Amino acid sequence: MAKSTNSDSESATELFSVDKSSPAVSAVKSVDPAAARVKRPLIEPKPLDRHGPARVIALCNQKGGVGKTTSTINLGAALAEFGRRVLLVDFDPQGALSVGLGVQPHQLERTAYNLLMERDVSIDDVVLKTSVSGLDMLPSNIDLSAAEVQLVGEVAREQALARALNPVLDDYDFVLIDCQPSLGLLTVNALTLAEGVIIPLECEFFSLRGVALLIDTIEKVRERLNPKLKLEGILATMYDGRTLHSREVYARVLEAFGDKVFDTVIARTVRFPETTVAGEPITTWASSSAGALAYRNLAREVLAR
Ligand code: ADP
Ligand code: MG
Repeated sequence: MAKSTNSDSESATELFSVDKSSPAVSAVKSVDPAAARVKRPLIEPKPLDRHGPARVIALCNQKGGVGKTTSTINLGAALAEFGRRVLLVDFDPQGALSVGLGVQPHQLERTAYNLLMERDVSIDDVVLKTSVSGLDMLPSNIDLSAAEVQLVGEVAREQALARALNPVLDDYDFVLIDCQPSLGLLTVNALTLAEGVIIPLECEFFSLRGVALLIDTIEKVRERLNPKLKLEGILATMYDGRTLHSREVYARVLEAFGDKVFDTVIARTVRFPETTVAGEPITTWASSSAGALAYRNLAREVLAR
């Protein structure tokens, strides 16, 4: 254990200080590393004739504003377009996922909080349909922050979300959990249920700093609570290939994580903030935009993994 902590903090330092003399990083002066990357062929998803059991994926990064919520909504919507039944779990007391899908969560009587804390509330009482066919949502609001405090004193406090979602796991093909920006008990609950983690990573130096700690947390949860947990992939978000800064960070991420980095890169565009106002995914709001195409490609990659 001591050894792994040590190497993690070393890799954290290495990651944070992007080595400009490294061949991969210095090459970005002349080439855009995201465009130049040799990509794996995209496989067209086959239609399903029956549904479930769900693959549960947590979208996790303790840094805020890196594209967790945007990626949860749009990956989910793209998977639903491919005929998958998808449940999105808003597991952040800020309720941004709920808002992004057109729901005002503070006006709801029952949310994920009630499902976790009240025995007589079942998941069917809380799940909402969205405007996208096949895409359902479990909303949250600020009440969820109380669950984090109240769960601390409970038996099997890390399994509360797993217990709550267990009855519907066979009804869905995917459950995507939008985690809050912390590595606290709610996130540990998500990691205890999930089989995969997607780490959205903003292409910016400060984003690299927390990744080693996050990977360390994933490893601890795997050892102690959930042996099937794996890192599904790292998703580069808010990429701007015109800036040297974005290119350098992306090259460094590729160098450090190799095949774990999705080929799909999400570019920075104002269309994403616009979709929050619209209250729907980019795949329906601007169906042929580059952002929509990118999340469809991400869905193809996830389905192929
Ligand atoms: P998180 O859930 O990690 O806090 P969000 O998905 O809420 O991050 O994104 C933070 C902000 O950045 C939001 O206003 C969102 O609309 C915006 N955003 C997300 N992805 C992109 C992108 N690719 N380009 C530009 N803005 C984006
Ligand atoms: Mg969020």
